[in-house]
Amino acid sequence: MHFMRSHCCYDAVPTSCKLVVFDTTLEIKKAFVALVANGVRAAPLWDSKMQSFVGECQGGRGSRGTAMGCRQSGQPRVSTGMLTITDFINILHRYYRSPLVQIYEVEEHKIETWREVYLQGSFKPLVYISPSDSLFDAVYSLIKHKIHRLPVIEPISGNVLHILTHKRILKFLHIFGSTIPKPRFLKKTVQELCVGTFRDVAVVPENAPVYAALEIFVDRRVSALPVVNAAGQVVGLYSRFDVIHLAAQKTYNNLDISVREALRQRTVCLEGVLTCYPHETMEDIIDRITEEQVHRLVLVDENRYPRGIVSLSDILQALVLTPAGIDALNS
Ligand code: ADP
Ligand code: ADP
Ligand code: AMP
Repeated sequence: MHFMRSHCCYDAVPTSCKLVVFDTTLEIKKAFVALVANGVRAAPLWDSKMQSFVGECQGGRGSRGTAMGCRQSGQPRVSTGMLTITDFINILHRYYRSPLVQIYEVEEHKIETWREVYLQGSFKPLVYISPSDSLFDAVYSLIKHKIHRLPVIEPISGNVLHILTHKRILKFLHIFGSTIPKPRFLKKTVQELCVGTFRDVAVVPENAPVYAALEIFVDRRVSALPVVNAAGQVVGLYSRFDVIHLAAQKTYNNLDISVREALRQRTVCLEGVLTCYPHETMEDIIDRITEEQVHRLVLVDENRYPRGIVSLSDILQALVLTPAGIDALNS
């Protein structure tokens, strides 16, 4: 907690990195293909008419919201300012009919058209952070707003410098926090500490259609689903990120294929599923999740039945926010 309070977001920004920004007049189809082509997971949206990022605080460039996001002091704007894979899932989920019917909305809509339909006039401010705000604030903001992408916006120019994620923050802590003493509770097991979700785990059967997986993503708002066989054992993992392969391979017109088939069609993926056991220490789990660069491990028992999820949100909540007496995950 102290380490994260004493380091700022700028410290965790890489020296050089790629940032892709989309104009809101770009067609949806092109936007998602562009995410794949550029190897990025999300893009801030730029409104050329307003000459500002969508959802950024009003009052001219240079004004910015609190560390936790934008104060709604200016004129309401009908938009959230990020395009992520979750948006692609929402679009497919809303408009998919059958493999025989082309999804007209994906082919024809622009980003701005989709936003208007989706938000229906409501205002969702862009959640962002300043480079001088602490990493503690960044963790709080990511978890509190249940988002996975936090743009770092330079207050004077209004430029986006980077998009922070849980992964990047934990990696930073893992590398640079190694010089400070480790909290003693890291030697305890995940079972003792109860870090993760252990009840009502959302899973998907391997023979279920991909559309069913999208439905669970939308209804439960979870970031990934353990894939189970007929006996209920964990045999894979289907994450929101994997859905972007449907855009890459232009196969989103058939969401009736099984989850097993969708996993097989992924070009780049990890083999199998990364798991952990209830008796493992938090320290071992953090080492594994950081090394494997995934967002969660599936907690299984000795028979590979799913018992829980240990995600980066759970780990950062436990490591950084709980010691400060804050529960952003369940608030
Ligand atoms: P993913 O896990 O697919 O990258 P997120 O969980 O970050 O997506 O996004 C969930 C929803 O919140 C999406 O509709 C996305 O547009 C929106 N969103 C993501 N990041 C931000 C942000 N920084 N400010 C406002 N909305 C955001
Ligand atoms: P993001 O970086 O967008 O948070 P994820 O970590 O959810 O993405 O997923 C990136 C890739 O890693 C996906 O192909 C996903 O299926 C895979 N993956 C994520 N977690 C696991 C896991 N526990 N076991 C196996 N593969 C995983
Ligand atoms: P995430 O969106 O992965 O950062 O996690 C946010 C919260 O959702 C964490 O408490 C996770 O443990 C929980 N979670 C993630 N995936 C699942 C799932 N498939 N079923 C139930 N809870 C989940």
